[in-house]
Amino acid sequence: MTKRNPQTLIPVPAAASPPAFRSYGRTDLRRLPQLKQLSRDRLQAMDIVARVLPFKVNNYVVENLIDWTRALDDPIFRLTFPQPGMLRTDHFNEVAGAVRSGDREHLLATIHAVREELNPHPAGQKDQNVPQLSDGTPLPGMQHKYTQTVLFFPSQGQTCHAYCTFCFRWPQFVAIKSGRFAMREATLLIRYLREHPEVTDLLITGGDPLIMRAKILSAYVDAVLKADLPGLQTIRIGTKALSYWPHRFVSDPDTPELLQMMRRVTERGLHLALMAHVNHVNELQTGVAEQALRNIRATGAEVRSQSPLMRRINDAPEDWTTLWQRQVRLGMVPYYMFLARDTGAQHHFAVPLVRAWEIYSEAIRKTSGLARTARGPSMSSAPGKIEISGVARVRDQRVLVLRMLQGRNPDWAYRPFFAEYDERALWLDDLRPAFGEREFFFEREAVAAGDEGDEFEAVAAA
Ligand code: SF4
Repeated sequence: MTKRNPQTLIPVPAAASPPAFRSYGRTDLRRLPQLKQLSRDRLQAMDIVARVLPFKVNNYVVENLIDWTRALDDPIFRLTFPQPGMLRTDHFNEVAGAVRSGDREHLLATIHAVREELNPHPAGQKDQNVPQLSDGTPLPGMQHKYTQTVLFFPSQGQTCHAYCTFCFRWPQFVAIKSGRFAMREATLLIRYLREHPEVTDLLITGGDPLIMRAKILSAYVDAVLKADLPGLQTIRIGTKALSYWPHRFVSDPDTPELLQMMRRVTERGLHLALMAHVNHVNELQTGVAEQALRNIRATGAEVRSQSPLMRRINDAPEDWTTLWQRQVRLGMVPYYMFLARDTGAQHHFAVPLVRAWEIYSEAIRKTSGLARTARGPSMSSAPGKIEISGVARVRDQRVLVLRMLQGRNPDWAYRPFFAEYDERALWLDDLRPAFGEREFFFEREAVAAGDEGDEFEAVAAA
């Protein structure tokens, strides 16, 4: 049974008692009843990992997405709960020893040292490519890497409803700075967009912007609508709320306000794309997730889905075939398969590039054309987004065929290039140019242009 919102006619289901959001962290590991079946050693190991890497889960994930009869093999358990292998043995032993010592200062110093060794700032993260206004005012809550797309990080949206174990943004979750993001920053965003009419897409990202109350998110979005920017075509919102808290679109107290805001965007003739981060088909099997999708689509918004390929979570071709098929059935558009970034627990989750391409191609061959909108596997690397297009034999040499999908130099986009075949390579840094070349074309051209190789972060998984 649904009730109608009088202002928008978007159906909002009448929930007798909408669930309240409850979040759990490290200190709940020994309290959650579902975890009582795990051994003491296992719980201890999870506690050690969660002291270094962020852990947050919530009641919806615990009660709906995990099969507790096979928890240790369950993909969503592995996606959200700390796994012992996420820390290298030496790091694990150092932290475990520091915990046993009972010396708090020593423990904090050990945790800090281990975090520093986990490459907390891959590809420059947020301190690089900070755009500026024409008067030199820096805009640290934004990034402008690819000509057409600006990323905007509202500071109230820099956390998530739960954390993914592999997340490359883990440093911001363990040392998050509180801070208020004043309306003035929306004003600066709009000034920047006015100065850059070439920008067609605004991506509001996080963390997860949908952690924000609708009122706060609407203040940003409405400011953009009010500015009436002629070049702006699309507002994208990166989120994992569909998977981690679908009640956001169904029964939260401010759900009607959120859906109304979304409807305002589409009624203004702008394209609104929810960039949903979905790792596994199990995230899309609940009734409330289906209802959330219906409510989102009723606003005129489109839902595109993206996810990294992760060992132990979604590294079988059938994981992707079923995910993409389910998404098409629910009206979502498969968009990207990413690769694990070189930070945090990459050693635990990364799939080698050659294997990633095999998984992608085997999975996509079993889908119809409507699911073949999924691009990948793609690395969000320093020079740009690079697709593994395949393995080929050229002049009797086995090579990896790659393609730059987006480059920091716009002229690089869609240029194919070749690397020596290497079954163990996990990332661009592991590859060598094929055919005896000394450099990849983008390295050569960056040097020729006097570019010192400043790095930037590419569009995130969520
Ligand atoms: S991958 Fe996305 S949803 Fe997951 S923790 Fe990171 S930012 Fe949050």
